[in-house]
Amino acid sequence: MAEGETIISGMIKKIKQAFRESEPNLNGEISGDDSVVFEPTTLEPQLIARADHQISRKDISDNALKVLYRLHNGGYQAYLVGGCVRDLLLGMKPKDFDVVTDATPEQIKGLFRNCRLIGRRFRLAHIVFGRDIIEVATFRGHHLGKDTQTDKKTPGHQNQDGQLIRDNVFGSIEEDAQRRDFSFNAMYYNIADYAITDFANGMEALNEHEIRIIGDPETRYREDPVRMLRAVRFAAKLNMKIEHHTARIIPELAPLLANIPPARLFEEISKLLLSGNGLKTFHLLHEYKLFGQLFPQLISVLNNPQGSEFRMLELVLTNTDKRVNSGLRITPAFFYAASLWCCVEERTQLHIMEGGLPSHDAFNLAITDVLHRQMQRIMIPKRFTTPIRDIWYLQPRLAKRMGRRAYVAMEHPRFRAAYDFLLIRAEIAGGDLTELAQWWTEFQDANPNLQKKLQADIRKQEGGETRRYRGRARKNNRNESP
Ligand code: ATP
Ligand code: MG
Repeated sequence: MAEGETIISGMIKKIKQAFRESEPNLNGEISGDDSVVFEPTTLEPQLIARADHQISRKDISDNALKVLYRLHNGGYQAYLVGGCVRDLLLGMKPKDFDVVTDATPEQIKGLFRNCRLIGRRFRLAHIVFGRDIIEVATFRGHHLGKDTQTDKKTPGHQNQDGQLIRDNVFGSIEEDAQRRDFSFNAMYYNIADYAITDFANGMEALNEHEIRIIGDPETRYREDPVRMLRAVRFAAKLNMKIEHHTARIIPELAPLLANIPPARLFEEISKLLLSGNGLKTFHLLHEYKLFGQLFPQLISVLNNPQGSEFRMLELVLTNTDKRVNSGLRITPAFFYAASLWCCVEERTQLHIMEGGLPSHDAFNLAITDVLHRQMQRIMIPKRFTTPIRDIWYLQPRLAKRMGRRAYVAMEHPRFRAAYDFLLIRAEIAGGDLTELAQWWTEFQDANPNLQKKLQADIRKQEGGETRRYRGRARKNNRNESP
């Protein structure tokens, strides 16, 4: 029998937290110091013995186990926590295994030769096994700062919106749990006895398929507005409902996302929209008024869910989901290019009509404008902005198919993405774009003879059209002239 099963005999034990004098009571006040109000919610941890849960060591990666045992044998506490525990309890394969311990980063480094310490603000240890990295964090604690207006103590250093701007203090496992976002993310699997400590009724939330924030929703979202995005991400990924209180305040607080550094949001957006649940996530983000905060240029598109631009967003995300779920590669550049294309078209028109620019200059300026505006919210790395521009530049170029132009376009490293985007545009707009997309579909796989014929057909067609047009123009002129 496993060690843990002998120590804790197959039942859920409720451990009532014994509060020390200096720690917060249930009302959030610290006894013995009535000038101090303490925000974090008190948690009542439950111990779930090995026999009462289904996480087995064979579900845990060898590298994670090595790290857990080395810490344990070194005399430290060692737990798996967060998404990996949650996903294992749901019978899903975790993306990665996160470890927490009471060892400090330096102590961790002392135990592992393959350890790299990262992060300046909050030091984390990366234990490196070739391409696999196990992240080990020291329990985080509350950083008691003073609210200068009320002279009361608050956790962490906060700005005027309640956002945590310093978050770098070590603490106990209880404090670590209080800082986590949702109840199912605050479950700790202990390598010492294979039991799980469930600090915030996470197991119940999992069973009831509900996403519940730990503590007061408004305070927690103000501390870190990204938690609103995470609630939506888990709702889509885990197919769960966001509990009423956790959900209700989100639309009202959505504007707080403007305070998040754009660099942090790029990764979040990729996880939200480009991980295989994009369409569902998009609808939820829209419903909770979060999407418009991330893509302010698309507000008018969002206000018209029957419009073709809205359908474009849905179609791009549907295609992305299909690719991700069939194991095909995707690039964030495609998503950004496709979703912001309507803004490029609109701004091009604006520069032509209001600025009097020639269409080519108007188009170039619109591309720079639209990207610049988007980067105020989401810092798209340069390795993606160049392909986004290329996909855009190629759209008008794909309409010019005569002579060498067609071959040059096909040689472009972004031709495939630009063509895929043309297919989507054609699906939405139909008409000439459908003909253009079909032409490219044939042309790129045709042998040289067929390619020549396809170009000749266009020449005839366009020549015919030009002649027809000229003929009509002459006729009209004749009719108009007295
Ligand atoms: P995923 O499966 O998508 O990785 P995850 O829950 O593991 O989901 P991570 O971003 O890897 O998400 O975070 C690991 C853990 O860290 C979370 O489970 C949660 O306990 C905690 N955490 C992450 N981000 C926050 C946050 N913004 N606020 C509070 N706790 C957070
Ligand atoms: Mg994770």
